[in-house]
Amino acid sequence: MAYINEHYLKLKAGYLFPEIGRRVTAFSQANPQARVIRMGIGDVTEPLPPAVCQAMHKAVDEMADRSTFRGYGPEQGYDFLRQAIAQGDYQSRSADISADEIFVSDGSKCDSANLLDVLGERNRIAVTDPVYPVYVDTNVMAGHTGSADDKGEYSGLTYLRTTAGNHFIAEPPQQAVDVVYLCSPNNPTGTALTRQLLSRWVEYARKNNTLILYDAAYEAYITEPEIPHSIYEIDGAREVAIELRSFSKLAGFTGVRCAFTVIPKALKGRTPNGEVVDLHRLWGRRHTTKFNGVSYITQRGAEAVYSPAGRQQVKSLVDFYMENAAIIRQNLRELGLGVFGGINAPYVWMKTPGQLSSWEFFDRLLHEAHVVGTPGSGFGASGEGYLRLSAFNSRENVNEAMNRIKQLKL
Ligand SMILES: *Cc1c(COP(=O)(O)O)cnc(C)c1O
Repeated sequence: MAYINEHYLKLKAGYLFPEIGRRVTAFSQANPQARVIRMGIGDVTEPLPPAVCQAMHKAVDEMADRSTFRGYGPEQGYDFLRQAIAQGDYQSRSADISADEIFVSDGSKCDSANLLDVLGERNRIAVTDPVYPVYVDTNVMAGHTGSADDKGEYSGLTYLRTTAGNHFIAEPPQQAVDVVYLCSPNNPTGTALTRQLLSRWVEYARKNNTLILYDAAYEAYITEPEIPHSIYEIDGAREVAIELRSFSKLAGFTGVRCAFTVIPKALKGRTPNGEVVDLHRLWGRRHTTKFNGVSYITQRGAEAVYSPAGRQQVKSLVDFYMENAAIIRQNLRELGLGVFGGINAPYVWMKTPGQLSSWEFFDRLLHEAHVVGTPGSGFGASGEGYLRLSAFNSRENVNEAMNRIKQLKL
């Protein structure tokens, strides 16, 4: 019999979304006439932009013809897409990133997990609380933590608490860490790091030799000018940061699958003996060995996001969701509820009324308004007393959900 990776046994069994699913199913079975509105999911609802579809159709036709058919592409991504990204996302913002520093992949979730392949065992790792659970669970799986306590927190990880007191925005800690995960704009809290605070993070990282894993999956949702779109807009970030980006929330690619990771050539890691190693080269080795590239059709679709028509269509998609977010924010504020996020991200992070716990309020919303949110406590101890509402929905559903919430006696 084969031996297993025992680190998997440390994972907390009761994962957030299955528990939500269980409660919603039980409610729907008992109340078959109720029309439940799901505002819990972090998935897009609107179809792909027309420019993307046209490019993909054209690519399918090329694949159908012997003279333009393509087999395996370069593992790191086709040059046409890497160039479009380097120009469209970085050089246009005076961020010094070149096409060969971009690795195209099938998702940021996988990339954030896969990055652990090239990082060693002895890193002191920091995550925020609340946090996107993938960062934590993949470190548990890789054996970088001890076991979980009653609160679900793993020994060996450093938790950076974000609360109403610091506006749910993570600040650099007093102590030095080797790796820190920053997600901005943030899932789940919807808040974003300002240029000034991100500069402090880069300064901290340079001083302490910290590697920043910067997840900018929601970059397209930024509306305020003081929020940087890339960490490489900050001087000195090339030596300390890896940036993850995805077409999922940008252009509705959650079911198509395309993302990229930026590893600047200036970025270094070290061996336990202090030997300095190039992380770009290490990641290149990993990526070309374990991955065979994103499909040509998908990469042509992603390239079209950078065309003039594509840009405009993506912007109206994002604007649509952000109008939903504004409607959610405004309605909750009118009810006198504490609200964070929803300005530079498609998530609104609301305080539960009357000291209810996250799950108590989740149940009330489900049973009395037939609206599903995501309990904040599922993202970490500091999320207790909060609920995440997603702006990924139809306008009709958002308006209906807000009307129902207004009728509750909160
Ligand atoms: C949705 C999301 C991603 C994107 O993941 P993909 O695998 O590219 O779909 C990455 N990070 C966070 C925090 C997300 O919410």
